[in-house]
Amino acid sequence: PEEVEPEDSFAASLALLSAEYGAKLPERLATLEAHLGRGRQGEAAALTEAYGVVHKLHGTAGSYGFRDVSITAGRLEDAMRPVKEGGPLDWTAVDAGARALRDVVAALPGAPKPEASPGEAAPSQGTLLVMDEDAALLASAKRMGEDEGLRVVTASTALEACAVVQRERVDGALLHMGPEGVTAAGALRALEGHESLPLAFTSAGGGLQERVVAAHAGASLFLPRPFTHQDLAIAAERLVAARRQERARVLVVDDDPEAVRALTQALASDAVEVVGLESAYGLLDALAQHRPDLLLLDVRMPGPSGFDLCRILRLSPEWQELPILLISAQVGLEFRLAAFQAGADDYLAKPVLREELRARVHARLERARLSRERTERDALTGLMLRRPFVDALTARLSEARRSDKPLALCFLDVDHFKKVNDEHGHLAGDRVLMRLGRLLGARFRREDLRARWGGEEFVVALLGETPESAKEILSRTAEELVGMEFEGDQGEPFHVTFSAGLAVAPHDGVTPEELLRVADARMYRAKSNGRNRIEVE
Ligand code: GH3
Ligand code: MG
Ligand code: MG
Repeated sequence: PEEVEPEDSFAASLALLSAEYGAKLPERLATLEAHLGRGRQGEAAALTEAYGVVHKLHGTAGSYGFRDVSITAGRLEDAMRPVKEGGPLDWTAVDAGARALRDVVAALPGAPKPEASPGEAAPSQGTLLVMDEDAALLASAKRMGEDEGLRVVTASTALEACAVVQRERVDGALLHMGPEGVTAAGALRALEGHESLPLAFTSAGGGLQERVVAAHAGASLFLPRPFTHQDLAIAAERLVAARRQERARVLVVDDDPEAVRALTQALASDAVEVVGLESAYGLLDALAQHRPDLLLLDVRMPGPSGFDLCRILRLSPEWQELPILLISAQVGLEFRLAAFQAGADDYLAKPVLREELRARVHARLERARLSRERTERDALTGLMLRRPFVDALTARLSEARRSDKPLALCFLDVDHFKKVNDEHGHLAGDRVLMRLGRLLGARFRREDLRARWGGEEFVVALLGETPESAKEILSRTAEELVGMEFEGDQGEPFHVTFSAGLAVAPHDGVTPEELLRVADARMYRAKSNGRNRIEVE
């Protein structure tokens, strides 16, 4: 196959799959010739079979990197079109097409030659930044990483850690608990593009206080010292898994399993997760289950066509905005008009070329992501809006129930905010909301949720926290806010505080509605009890 240059283990696995497909090509060709032979004797069913084989080769060989096979099969498919559409078959053209296909396949490198054998290079779990003042620990973490197939890069100060992250792609950071580590957590998350970098802390202690500091600083994980090779590998895997959750999801629907496989392997990557489906009938269930960011739809399938499905989805409010790409062997004017009339965003011609497929899909995904950012985020604070927060909270609550963990919901409201506006100006008020929003966004673990509920009200959901630990974590945020100096219209300095109410699932309720009601009522109690406080019961 052309164009396969394994630069990493992913490319190597692609090469393997391509080689596998290539190895089966001679056998496929033999089947084709057998069908053609019987077809020449007048067996119509055999001709239909032959047409099917050629059609699939045309459609999928390109995705596996066998572009010439695909193009040649396309010419044979053209010659065989009367099989499908009726009319006399030009056997001279069919024989010429079959011969050309045989020649192309014969010219391929015979045996499959995998370009990297599995086990040769251990699959990398990603890159972990380890920051510690202790050089011996850094050296040992590096060695442990090597043993566990994990790339470890090191830093001994917060400044160095920031430099590393800006120099190379890092999937997560493990920081030594202490003033320098907490500084590093804040500094790393403040870097553009690293706002949700997965963080972990390590410490010999590990008491409640340290865990609270870690959670508030944004650590998803606490690794007690000393740790073993395996502890480090598990911690790294969990951090990297957190990042993986943000992969875009693509649903591929094609009745030909070969095509599903080809499209899947062409698209799947660190950034894209692909779910395949071989029947149009399962589409609505698959959409509900996987909630994809993009749909790749074959047009010609048994049952409802891709056009029909497209129309159905455009009628359903939930999927009206889902990017849909239709795939078809024939993309003439008639097809193109029908595709856009049905509500498709784009189309791809079979044979689908890997580079073009990736380029079109990635462009759509990026556009969809940006528009989601705009519609689901509050522009002033950068936090989630109410609706997406409640949706995400529902998911977190069922996760908490499954893993038998508590979940703390906090409702917070800025104190005397009307006075802030009146005394210091509306713009100063906006600056308060913006900085409090950014503070909430930068603190806590990446899996925690925070949103601007509206006006000067915010909500935060902390997974796995008890009333006591959640109160501790939020008290730190309150302290940080009190420490911030704001400037009014006339340049006068001022400070603000907030009042908050906490509700914890399952004790105070198990649905978003119940928890929000309880947290809101406690927030009002905090107001009447003098403000600048957090009520837990
Ligand atoms: P309390 O301590 O009881 O919460 O007093 P408060 O003044 O904060 O209470 P209230 O909820 O009555 O006032 C909220 C004010 O917040 C009213 C509204 O004008 C202001 N506000 C809402 N959204 C914004 C905004 O986006 N920017 C600014 N500057 N002010 C806002
Ligand atoms: Mg209010
Ligand atoms: Mg208020």
